[in-house]
Amino acid sequence: MAYTFNSAAAFYGDPPDARHPWAVHDMNRPQPKLVTPGTFSTQDQAGKPPSDAIVLFDGKDLSGWASAKDGVAPAKWKVEDGHMEVVPSTGDIQTREQFGDCQLHVEWAAPTEVKGSSQGRGNSGVFLMGICEIQVLDVYDNPTYADGYAASVYGVNPAMVNAIKPPGQYQVYDIVFRRPVWKEGKMLDPGYVTVFVNGVLAQDATPLEGPTGHMKRTIPGPFPEKGPIKLQDHGNPMRFRNIWYRPLPPRPIEGGTDGGFLTEAATTAKRQAIAADIRADAEKQKGNAVAYMLRLMESLAYEKDSATAKQVEELAATYDAAIKALTPDDVKAKKDEIRWVHGAVGYTVRNGYLPESLPLKADLDRIVKEQKWDK
Ligand code: MG
Repeated sequence: MAYTFNSAAAFYGDPPDARHPWAVHDMNRPQPKLVTPGTFSTQDQAGKPPSDAIVLFDGKDLSGWASAKDGVAPAKWKVEDGHMEVVPSTGDIQTREQFGDCQLHVEWAAPTEVKGSSQGRGNSGVFLMGICEIQVLDVYDNPTYADGYAASVYGVNPAMVNAIKPPGQYQVYDIVFRRPVWKEGKMLDPGYVTVFVNGVLAQDATPLEGPTGHMKRTIPGPFPEKGPIKLQDHGNPMRFRNIWYRPLPPRPIEGGTDGGFLTEAATTAKRQAIAADIRADAEKQKGNAVAYMLRLMESLAYEKDSATAKQVEELAATYDAAIKALTPDDVKAKKDEIRWVHGAVGYTVRNGYLPESLPLKADLDRIVKEQKWDK
């Protein structure tokens, strides 16, 4: 990034600390990835996934799906008019793709012709990683046990609401899935699932205990890192369309550096990496003495490296001599630059990255005061 006076993060908000690798309002922090949003579905037409989504079913074929019996044999459900439909008794199907934490979008419809009741009516399921069922059920005017409702974590936690439309209509599930994380037999993070049904919140970061099952209480235990999405053949001709997911970045517990509650060791490592990047960027700007000095100065906020600090003090001495040699008119002409360097030096000294006794600090304070730029 080309250096500009307002791109220097460390000269602005609260600095990095033991648990936060970046300053507040830090321009060094990576920009959010650009994603072109998709479009919403209507009953007649499936919407478009966002640009970075991985499409699991686009209404055309089941090439990305296999029989869940062995994960290899072709899926035997039928595909027509932009949807897939359960062919009863052909068995569950699952994606050939395996993944873990994700944002998952699934649309489903129960048959228009209502048959059966309770769990026998319009039943299927979305199994996260093949083992944790988010229930799919036609619960439109169809009471059943609460922990088996549509959008329940089956057998574990009821849906908060019943926001299901009449049978025959498409229902939209938007799921955020964070799998349980185990290491050496210990649970580091229970994992969470959030589910919106037709845009209405039904699971709010519900902690996951382990795989779900029928009639049996879940027993927490080690969870794999990835698995397929499985769809259930429960004997009803359920339809699905527009299935896609977006992988999610790692949590701090798995080495992610965003999202809070980083360990001190992870924060230190990240700060060292940021400092190294900034120093490398500084080298590219060596042709501009002020940019070079400021960029190196900035790196001290992430890592107070003594060699860099010494280098910055030398550059500061050179800069100090240069501004002291300026005519009063030249000082005025350099107002923006001098004020910026003054702010940067003040921040750096205030936070203990450079000594209070830095001569440039006293000289800049004096110039800014004489020029009344502090008003
Ligand atoms: Mg089910």
